[in-house]
Amino acid sequence: MAKKSIADIDPSGKVVLMRVDFNVPQDDSDAITDDRRIRMALPSIESVISRGGRLVLMSHMGRPKGNGPEPKYSLSGVAKRLSELLAQPVTFATDTVGSDAEAKVKALTDGGVVVLENLRFNAGEKNGDSDFANTLAGWADIYCNDAFGTCHRTDASMVAVPIAMEGKPRVVGFLVAKEIQYLTDTISSPARPFVAILGGAKVSDKIKVIENLLGICDHVLIGGAMAYTFSLATGGKTGDSLVEKDKLELAKELIEKGGNKLVLPVDTHCGDDFSGSCNKQVVPAGAIPDGWEGLDIGPETAKLYANLLKSAKTVVWNGPMGVFEMPPFDEGTKTVAQAIADSDATSIIGGGDSAAAIEQLGFADQVSHVSTGGGASLSMLEGAKFAAVELLDDA
Ligand code: AMP
Repeated sequence: MAKKSIADIDPSGKVVLMRVDFNVPQDDSDAITDDRRIRMALPSIESVISRGGRLVLMSHMGRPKGNGPEPKYSLSGVAKRLSELLAQPVTFATDTVGSDAEAKVKALTDGGVVVLENLRFNAGEKNGDSDFANTLAGWADIYCNDAFGTCHRTDASMVAVPIAMEGKPRVVGFLVAKEIQYLTDTISSPARPFVAILGGAKVSDKIKVIENLLGICDHVLIGGAMAYTFSLATGGKTGDSLVEKDKLELAKELIEKGGNKLVLPVDTHCGDDFSGSCNKQVVPAGAIPDGWEGLDIGPETAKLYANLLKSAKTVVWNGPMGVFEMPPFDEGTKTVAQAIADSDATSIIGGGDSAAAIEQLGFADQVSHVSTGGGASLSMLEGAKFAAVELLDDA
């Protein structure tokens, strides 16, 4: 699935239309609270401008209604922050496909950068409108997708624009290339043993991931609240734990299909209230008393999982083992994170909460890859193919 990269083309004097993910969090006064997504796009941005390309950056931010500008979702602050990070002027277009954008794109010189206003101010972005896509496509010589967090979507800037640019180079940026390398290439020919560890709140969110990984992994370890649905399905007592009663049949099927590949917790750390200061006890899995709820894997399970992770050569982790935001129910997640950090396996951390947990625990630089996209990384782990990536040029 290797795709042609921005490094493989010569952008000198050309207009490069790059879809990035500048969907950064902002506070009530619209100040950016975490500029990581902007910084992560810098390698691709710098690669274009340092070689004399004329760069047009497009992104969405938040969920505006799609019928015009909404100041709190404006990308103007992002353009300002990008200018600081690049230490060069960055032009901001106050519209996306209107006269300001057109004039500013036309006025670009070699090495210059324009950030277009939020794509989602136009309904055309979400509904894949061809006029909207054709306008953007018509300005550019080269298309680059470096917006991994949006790759599972079929928005106009992800699919209709590159389709409209058929015949011109259509490539991935460095961020997307790295995500594909780990989330598809490594997983499709893994060094073994290949161990996946899946947690989080609900089985229903991860059914397809479990199914796909059971087909390719040596072990799939289950933690988080989703373990209680499996426990209930096999006749265990789950007390007041979070369970999905409508998913019991499915849990049974997964247990049958998984055989001894599917590893479930052997003990549970529970509390008599959803709070860090509640009364606590560790009980065997499937023996959670009434009035108590499972809030983390127990210490025996943590040890078992850490041992299996120790001998792994490839690890995929998605979802915390318990309510990691609420100590001491972060212990299982911490033990697992430590085991992954200590192992010499190729380790891939899915986006969302497990990425947050590994960062929070300070292990992010001890793993091979922390995915930047929650939904997109889950979809890739499901084995889904993304139209936004498939249609780009092969390497
Ligand atoms: P997800 O988004 O599906 O990865 O789920 C992450 C959320 O699951 C986190 O906010 C955790 O607090 C929550 N979670 C994990 N284990 C439990 C549990 N045993 N009981 C309730 N919530 C849990």
